[in-house]
Amino acid sequence: MAECTDLSISPSEAPLVAIALGSNLGEPLRQLRSAVQVLAQTAGIDVLACSPWYRTVPVGPPQPDYWNGCLIGRVQLSPWALLKTLQAIEMQFGRQRQEHWGARTLDLDLLLYGDRVINTAELTLPHPRFAERPFVLVPLAAIAPHWRHPVLGETIQTLRQRVGDKGIIAVLSDDVGETTFAAAADRPQPELP
Ligand code: ATP
Ligand code: CA
Ligand code: CA
Repeated sequence: MAECTDLSISPSEAPLVAIALGSNLGEPLRQLRSAVQVLAQTAGIDVLACSPWYRTVPVGPPQPDYWNGCLIGRVQLSPWALLKTLQAIEMQFGRQRQEHWGARTLDLDLLLYGDRVINTAELTLPHPRFAERPFVLVPLAAIAPHWRHPVLGETIQTLRQRVGDKGIIAVLSDDVGETTFAAAADRPQPELP
């Protein structure tokens, strides 16, 4: 078992977190898969599920298409320690901050940390913009459809249905030994229960 690195959180209380991954510079898919490995090997983080990867239209200045995905983990780090860990991993992958929403080798956003609501200068939880973003909600709904947004009070599945598939170009499922692309925008929407 991973070492408990924040003594304020005991392993039995380890909260679930949702993290968004994105990349559009270098070799995005290689970097994203490698970032998942790095996270899985980080003390205090257990990766429980990872979504397929989605090719998406960039938001912001003109730049290459993105690859996006999400993962669910269980952590024994405080929200701030986890954010610092994510930022350190971004740096490890050569992330440079230039223009706002500009191209990047790796972006790791902390979307949800249990049902914590935090509003500080360095950290906002839930992530303030993800509930409007198909490129986050589509992958997140693939692995955590029933998680309820602690401020909006709605499930990820409901939020995802609301935003639709705008900007989603394709999906890549990492089934064993097989690479499959499908036109995600054309896929039928899953039925709500
Ligand atoms: P966006 O936040 O709209 O997705 P971005 O990912 O391009 O844009 P960054 O430049 O990666 O933005 O991050 C800007 C700042 O956001 C960081 O310095 C970080 O302190 C802050 N931040 C606040 N809340 C979060 C969060 N939940 N996850 C990640 N970063 C956060
Ligand atoms: Ca982001
Ligand atoms: Ca970010």
